[in-house]
Amino acid sequence: MYLSLSDEERLRLNGHVQVFLDEKSFEGCNGFELTEEVRLTIAVQACFLILNHKYPSYYPGVSSILVYPAAFKVPVYKESEAGTINESKEVVAGVAWKNDLLILSWSDVLQGARNDKDGRNVVFHEFAHQLDVRDGYYDGVPILPRKSMYQHWERIFSREYERFVRASESGEKTFLDEYGATNRAEFFAVSTEHFFEQPKVFKEKHRDLYELFKVFYQQDPIARLLSSYRSSGKSLERFELPSYIDWKFEKPESFKCPPSLLESSVKSTLMIRFVLTAIVAFLAITNLPLLVAIFFWAAVGSVAVCFLFKFIMVASAQSKKFPRLP
Ligand SMILES: [Zn+2]
Repeated sequence: MYLSLSDEERLRLNGHVQVFLDEKSFEGCNGFELTEEVRLTIAVQACFLILNHKYPSYYPGVSSILVYPAAFKVPVYKESEAGTINESKEVVAGVAWKNDLLILSWSDVLQGARNDKDGRNVVFHEFAHQLDVRDGYYDGVPILPRKSMYQHWERIFSREYERFVRASESGEKTFLDEYGATNRAEFFAVSTEHFFEQPKVFKEKHRDLYELFKVFYQQDPIARLLSSYRSSGKSLERFELPSYIDWKFEKPESFKCPPSLLESSVKSTLMIRFVLTAIVAFLAITNLPLLVAIFFWAAVGSVAVCFLFKFIMVASAQSKKFPRLP
């Protein structure tokens, strides 16, 4: 995507990235090692959204960005039909946390950067929320360049959102990610991902919304694609998964990171060890001759089970697609 920009746009983007990197602090969670590549990958994608804004905001609602190695768990509060608030844990790829923290999963950031045509990009998603909430509301209405645009935006956006919710509820296969039917804010964030990554189909399916986004973002991804195809010799770079991601369980001292999927897997493995030890103790008391065999299983077998369990949790965390929250 970066390579499809004109030279002038690239220069402008580089300028935005410098400001972004100066203003925002980054922290690695769970022992994740922050490198220039991590900072740049996030900054470039975040600034892509504001590339052509006349007065780019540089996301004043975000002062720090926490980066986990993979998807992580956060508490989610949902109101039941009876009006009570229920807390549950959800595994997510990105989330705005407290007032000024934004948390991202590096494996999902990388996936978004590596595949810029699948309509999924967690950085676009989370920073689209930031553009949306600049006026104080997560409602799918960002601050528009002209006052006269609000009425038009509201009419088109509401119509498209309601149409999408109806299609989603009726089980119709939708082009946009179904997560967009959660609420207007998610519809805006999900639409942003598809607008930049799958502009052609987006325009075919949601022509009016495409025009709306074109004016807001001051970008026309279809026109950019066409001009980049015309200029020959350009090949899109691919990001490779860096080998330095290892799975440590240390927390940075300066930040309190919410529990990650990996942390919870460690808790689960401790639980398995506890149960196995209890079984061993019970059998040892009731049947002494089995003690040696069981001891061997407890010492070696349980460790093997724990490693296998951890491996499965890590593999599933990397392979699943997780939702993104505001
Ligand atoms: Zn979201």
